[in-house]
Amino acid sequence: MWKLILGSVTKPRRAKRRVVRRRRRAQRPLSLVEQEQRYQARGVILEHVEHWSAVMEITPKRVAVRNQRSRWGSASSLGNLNFNWRIAGLPPGIRDYVIIHELAHLRQMNHSPAFWAIVAGYCPGYKAHRKWLREHSRSEQRLG
Ligand SMILES: [Zn+2]
Repeated sequence: MWKLILGSVTKPRRAKRRVVRRRRRAQRPLSLVEQEQRYQARGVILEHVEHWSAVMEITPKRVAVRNQRSRWGSASSLGNLNFNWRIAGLPPGIRDYVIIHELAHLRQMNHSPAFWAIVAGYCPGYKAHRKWLREHSRSEQRLG
């Protein structure tokens, strides 16, 4: 006896609406090692921000070290600077470039020639550092 197998006919399903919201990364508590790592990173960053702030005579209002995934650093028009704690692990010249870059934004909130002139004054090799950073960043990591 042949069993006639009919392909099951289903109504074409409407494509499921794609979830637009990006899933938040699971909030996993930091291990002790990670906590220690970030604590150390924060100290390193603040120390060098203080150094360059004195050298450049530019004082940020507030400096925050954050776990931001998409940026190495950023500056706000209110005079606040944010740094990704991961910059502490970059080669020192690159780390300093990020810090100098953000401090320079407190004078020039743009990437004009005047801005780059400030950066170049304290970081003559900035072009090579920029290139290095671009090559070593994940696509979403930017320098603000
Ligand atoms: Zn910038």
